[in-house]
Amino acid sequence: MAETGRAAVFLGPGKPFEIRELPLPALEAGAVLIRVTLANICGSDLHFWRGGAPLALPPDGWIFGHEMTGRVAILGAGVGTDSLGQPLRAGARVAFSYFYPCGRCHVCLRGQRAACPNKVGRATGPGEFPHWVGAFAEYYYLRPGGFIFRVPDALPDALVSPVNCALSQVIYGLTQTGLGFGDSVVIQGLGGLGIQATAVAREMGAGTIIALDQLDGRLELAGAFGADHTLSLAEVPDRKARVRQVRDWTGGRGADVACGFVGFPPVVPDGIEMLRYGGTCLEIGCISRGRTVEFDPSSLVWGSKRILGVVMYDPWVIPRALDFLERCRARYPFERLVSHTFPLEKINEAFREAEWHQRGAAASGITRAALTP
Ligand SMILES: [Zn+2]
Ligand SMILES: [Zn+2]
Repeated sequence: MAETGRAAVFLGPGKPFEIRELPLPALEAGAVLIRVTLANICGSDLHFWRGGAPLALPPDGWIFGHEMTGRVAILGAGVGTDSLGQPLRAGARVAFSYFYPCGRCHVCLRGQRAACPNKVGRATGPGEFPHWVGAFAEYYYLRPGGFIFRVPDALPDALVSPVNCALSQVIYGLTQTGLGFGDSVVIQGLGGLGIQATAVAREMGAGTIIALDQLDGRLELAGAFGADHTLSLAEVPDRKARVRQVRDWTGGRGADVACGFVGFPPVVPDGIEMLRYGGTCLEIGCISRGRTVEFDPSSLVWGSKRILGVVMYDPWVIPRALDFLERCRARYPFERLVSHTFPLEKINEAFREAEWHQRGAAASGITRAALTP
């Protein structure tokens, strides 16, 4: 096996990635080295790349990216199975989490591992052990205690790569809202998260699903993923008119659940306003600090509404996400989620393309660009 591998090193917003050759690490007991086969460019990666997300960049740069899948390259001492006890060998295809709840803090002890304040830790540079800390590289180092699951043979990589971020995130978030049988759901923002949330809400028993975006291609894709109604922000630019339309589609009441996947604070109050009395607003998209929005908290109080912030998920979600894909892959066009793939060397081009499409320059249904390291 090779002693080194290639990684795309990020040197800061506005600078091109640099492809570097790095040594493979000596594995700690309990760790797993994974050969990355597909790494998606997630919306949050674009935030880092643009400079919109908080980041203490290590002096020698940073390998990032987190939405990925791969094969076991090397198993550390003591690892013979995945997190569910299934045998694990070199070459096995796996899905795994990229964050590490500490298990020893007040929050973890309360059973809220997804909210553990220590689950991400400080960013380390490529020169520092374990070197391989991100998806945009040939290898990823799964730290001891990391959650890892075998992938069913029937699922291709393009379906599995969104599992450890977008898909698990929306399954966990929707579960946290308490979404119930027949509930109406508003989905704001139809990138990777919003599109998959549409199918997940459908499979969780949602009644009416209303999907909002400004790009026609994405609205069309939401329809294919189970949305009953789509609402174009380009066609209905007036927010009051949008709220009225959502009320019309929900028996005059407003939605039971509204989900914010946009990452654009000004639309957060719209979601709250689209809720019925006692409804729940799930916010996942806004990860950039310092971007604010004016909002009247009395609308929460008088409407008895909840806002729920969720970042990442509890590890039980990954096997559920894989089951969901196996069960429902014929029902929704999951293969349309990863729309463009690029070799690792073309990472700069891949980011430019992903940005171009996310900004709406092309009204296509593109959701994810991916790298094949
Ligand atoms: Zn992500
Ligand atoms: Zn913790």
